[in-house]
Amino acid sequence: MALILHGKSTCCFCNQVLNDDADYRGFPHFVGNSNDELFKYSDNAFHIDCLNAAPIGAKLIRYADEFIRFIAPGNRKCVVTGELITKQEDHIMIGYLTSDEASALHQFNFTHIHRNNLAKWQDQSKLLSLLLSLRDSENWQNHYPQQYLSMLIQSITL
Ligand SMILES: [Zn+2]
Repeated sequence: MALILHGKSTCCFCNQVLNDDADYRGFPHFVGNSNDELFKYSDNAFHIDCLNAAPIGAKLIRYADEFIRFIAPGNRKCVVTGELITKQEDHIMIGYLTSDEASALHQFNFTHIHRNNLAKWQDQSKLLSLLLSLRDSENWQNHYPQQYLSMLIQSITL
């Protein structure tokens, strides 16, 4: 979650300081692609009023809240079996990929897979080829040196 310093941090929309004058909230870092339209709002803080007034506000709230629900331990259910995944070493997490509902990647946003079920997952090769073409395109730019997309590709490769 974004680190917010009351009376110091500023709203990502209006640049005013966040303090007792108006309600505010922070979003977690949930966008790994710095070319994504939501990237600059990820891991940032906002006045609630500014968020509600911004044209992109509703979309931003939708995906950030979906991410927050997605990472909750009780929601880590395998896409193949529906069973709860409790061990980190068994867990493949596909977080936020895109907000573009026309993209074939959109259906894979916020997916949990138990590593043992990867070979049984009927969409494994589809997602893998989508991620490989995304990697080769200009549409994904890694913000962090960890190369999130490459790690994701590696994690779902059989
Ligand atoms: Zn503001």
